[in-house]
Amino acid sequence: MTDQSCHTDHYAVLGHPIHHSMSPKIHAAFAEQTGQQLSYEAIDVSPESLQTRLTQLPKEGFCGVNITVPHKEVAWQYVKQHGLLSERAALAGAVNTLAWTTEGLLGDNTDGQGLLNDLQQRHGLSLAGKRILLLGAGGASRGVILPLLAAHPAALVIANRTAARAEALAELFAPQRANCVLLGCGLGHLDRLTASAGSFDVVINATSASLGGESITLPTGTLTSDAFAYDMMYGKALTPFLQAQQNAGVRHLADGLGMLVEQAAVAFTLWRGVTPQTQPVYNQLRNDLSNK
Ligand code: NDP
Repeated sequence: MTDQSCHTDHYAVLGHPIHHSMSPKIHAAFAEQTGQQLSYEAIDVSPESLQTRLTQLPKEGFCGVNITVPHKEVAWQYVKQHGLLSERAALAGAVNTLAWTTEGLLGDNTDGQGLLNDLQQRHGLSLAGKRILLLGAGGASRGVILPLLAAHPAALVIANRTAARAEALAELFAPQRANCVLLGCGLGHLDRLTASAGSFDVVINATSASLGGESITLPTGTLTSDAFAYDMMYGKALTPFLQAQQNAGVRHLADGLGMLVEQAAVAFTLWRGVTPQTQPVYNQLRNDLSNK
């Protein structure tokens, strides 16, 4: 619950750059739908000034903030020093949601829950028993590993441009893997891994390659014939990654717009104690994107 001394109910998203952020629109829609009185703005914060800004914000009447690229890991360090981390955020090593509450500063990571809500509820995908390939080992990837493991896949392979980062993540989450095969490798080792261990049912692109208009080439045979390809990035048209998968014959494709709306809804619930409906907001944003 929000600290009641926080009368103005200001919220914001902090990132760098931030002008493209759809979060103000999403939270304004949630607030209208649920009758909550609040303001939500996008604030551009450079990496050098993040810690100072986080100290100032509660004094300026802010009750909570979302954290986006490139601040998730530094904000995690800040909460570790000055507040409390949720269990999922503590393990992820990255936060995307902060709340200044009566108990002090709380740091959470709602990205993983947002991804799962989108995959399972919006796209009707069951992850139990599936072989999942997660591309990338940055803040977004860290945030989704624990919730993905909790969905009981048969295997989760983290593949990254810098192999050592993927291997480190697989080692970090090994105690949570239960019966799941959890491996980290370089993108360049995928062909050997697939040849020896089999194809994947689901691929999730958590790299920022699509942001730069680049795709990631998956060796032939990486995916099963009925695979589902997901890119956390989203846009008016298919992202370069999804376009490449479609060209390779993958029929089930989804971008990260739903994840964006779902992770925001989990943060909104944490701050306000009410859960907004996500589908009308998702439909509106999809419509706005296609009219751009
Ligand atoms: P980070 O900067 O923390 O990590 C970037 C990752 O992408 C690293 O693993 C990096 O590899 C890899 N990478 C970057 N460029 C390339 C490339 N050209 N080829 C291959 N790999 C590359 O970013 P985040 O993890 O925070 O975000 C990743 C993506 O997920 C972004 O596009 C972001 O917008 C999106 N996202 C979407 C969300 C949503 O709600 N839809 C929520 C969170 C993130 P290396 O380690 O080798 O540098």
